[in-house]
Amino acid sequence: GEEFIKVEHLKKYFKVPAGTNHAVDDVSFAIQKGETLGVVGESGCGKSTLGRTLIHLLEATDGNICFKGQDITHVKGKELKKIREKMQIVFQDPYSSLNPRLRIENTVMEPLKRSGRFHSKAELREEATRLMELVGIDERLRMSYPHELDGGRRQRVCIARALALNPEFIVCDEPVSALDVSIQAAVLNLLKELQQQMGMAYMFVTHDLSVVRHISDNICVMYLGQLVEKSSTKELFSNT
Ligand code: ADP
Ligand code: ADP
Repeated sequence: GEEFIKVEHLKKYFKVPAGTNHAVDDVSFAIQKGETLGVVGESGCGKSTLGRTLIHLLEATDGNICFKGQDITHVKGKELKKIREKMQIVFQDPYSSLNPRLRIENTVMEPLKRSGRFHSKAELREEATRLMELVGIDERLRMSYPHELDGGRRQRVCIARALALNPEFIVCDEPVSALDVSIQAAVLNLLKELQQQMGMAYMFVTHDLSVVRHISDNICVMYLGQLVEKSSTKELFSNT
C-alpha cells in the first residue's frame, strides 16, 4: 500500500562562511503508520537537521517528502499550517522550548487556541486538562511556571503541547538526553504508551543506542549526512 511517510533523495544544505555544509545529503527512506524509526549517528551527522526538514521547520534543498501520498516538500500557507499540525517535534531541552512566562496550562492551551477549533475558554481548558492528565502532570502543577518543574515534568508538558492537535507523526529529537537518568525510562515509557493509544509514527533521533534499542522498530544509521544503514532493531542487535 501507500507509504505513510516517504522521503526520496532528500538534501538539506547550509550555506556557511567556508562554503556549503551538506548536513543531509541524499537520504531516502520510508516510515509506516505507527512505526518508530530510530535515527542514530555521531554528533553533527545530520540527525536533527533531517528531523527538522521532515516536519518543515527547515526547507529542503532538494528531494521529496511525501506524507500519506501527498508531496508536501513545497507546501505553503494554509496547507503548510495543516501539515504542521499533523507533524510535531519534541526537543532535547524541555526548558528552552517552553515560554518561561507562560503557565503550564496556558502552554498546553496555546496550540489549541491557534487551531481555532475551540469556541470557549471552558472548552479550551477542558481539553488542556485532558492532555495534562494524559501525560501525568499533577493538577497542583497546572498553574505553575516551567522553572518550577523538574526536567521530566517539563518534558511531559512539551509532549502534551505536541499532542494537542492529534499529530500523526512526531519527531522526538533526543527527548530524554537532557534528563536525569532516573527519569529517562519514565518519559520513554510515556512516549511508547501514547503511541500505543494514539497510533502515531515517531522518528526517534538519538546518539544513545540503548534508547533506540528500547523504543525503535527500525533503525537508520547516519554518517556525514548520509544514511549508511537501515535495518530492523532485532537484526541490528542480533549479534550483541
Ligand atoms: P546531529 O543532530 O546529528 O548532531 P545536526 O543536524 O545538528 O547533527 O547538524 C548537522 C550538520 O549541519 C553539522 O555540521 C551542523 O553544524 C550543521 N548545521 C546544523 N544546523 C545548521 C544551521 N542552521 N546552519 C549551518 N549549519 C548547520
Ligand atoms: P540540538 O542539540 O537540539 O540539535 P543544536 O544546539 O545543535 O540543537 O542547535 C541549535 C540551533 O542552532 C538549531 O536551530 C540548529 O539548526 C542551529 N545550528 C546548529 N549548528 C549550527 C551551525 N554550525 N551554524 C549555525 N547554526 C547551527
